[in-house]
Amino acid sequence: MKNTWKVAIAALGALTLAGCGGEASQESEDSGVVQAVSTFSILTDIVEEIGGDHVEVYNLVPVGQDPHEYESTPADTKALSDADVFFINGLNLEGGDQGWAARMASSVGIEDDRLVETTDGVEPLYLTEGVEDSVNPHAFLDPNVGVIIAENVAESLAEIDPDNAQAYQDNADAYVGELTAMHEQYQQEIGDLEEDRRVLVTSERAFQYMAQRYDLLEGYIWSVDTDDIGTPDQIISTIDFVKEHQPPALFLESNVASAPMETVSSDTGVEIYATVFSDELAPEGEPGDTYLGLLEENLTRISEGLQQ
Ligand SMILES: [Zn+2]
Repeated sequence: MKNTWKVAIAALGALTLAGCGGEASQESEDSGVVQAVSTFSILTDIVEEIGGDHVEVYNLVPVGQDPHEYESTPADTKALSDADVFFINGLNLEGGDQGWAARMASSVGIEDDRLVETTDGVEPLYLTEGVEDSVNPHAFLDPNVGVIIAENVAESLAEIDPDNAQAYQDNADAYVGELTAMHEQYQQEIGDLEEDRRVLVTSERAFQYMAQRYDLLEGYIWSVDTDDIGTPDQIISTIDFVKEHQPPALFLESNVASAPMETVSSDTGVEIYATVFSDELAPEGEPGDTYLGLLEENLTRISEGLQQ
């Protein structure tokens, strides 16, 4: 008797679940729009580019907040429970398997094909050599990684919404064309810099992928925003680095405190040339408010700063 009751409840549960799933997909079929959630502004822009009119994207971490550590709001959770697909950067950006995005996904039951790690296929670089969990998340600052992200997004959207698969592929092809042109611009402008000017100093070690791709020597005050940041030891070793390698300029990311880099600057006499973007787009309406715009702004500011 007891068992039958349990089975009946389980069956009812399964029915209810199936009913919900059916309704949800019916709904998105009716409106013709895929509901997507993306973790942070850079990825949200890429999903919007690939999705076009067929996808509505809800962005989680607003510009001005840190994607490495984020506390979701009730509205975020609601958006994620209604979502057809959840796009994350991966590579530890959102804190990895135990991080905030993974916890959100499991709390609303988004998994498998609906949870898309968009850097799948990117060769990880490590903040500390040989330490597996020290993956550097900031791969997207290399436009070639943008190509992989765009293709992964297009592939997932095509699986979720096969009717518009061709549109996603066309959008991805056009976008990849622009990213490839951007890569060529990076190669040329950074490639033109003389050897002793190829030194990029930022606060966080966010430019590892970009620096390795285009052959820049990296200097930084701290490894990742989630660690201790701007400690006296870190500042002293950055000052030593700057004195040794003599970069023509220093750079400050849009999302970090300026005091540590200002100390490095005043102590070495090397000026902070410009703001660059490492974890977020610029506020809407400003240069760098799209992923392609961000790549272009970073390139222009870095190559001009190092040329002077
Ligand atoms: Zn960062």
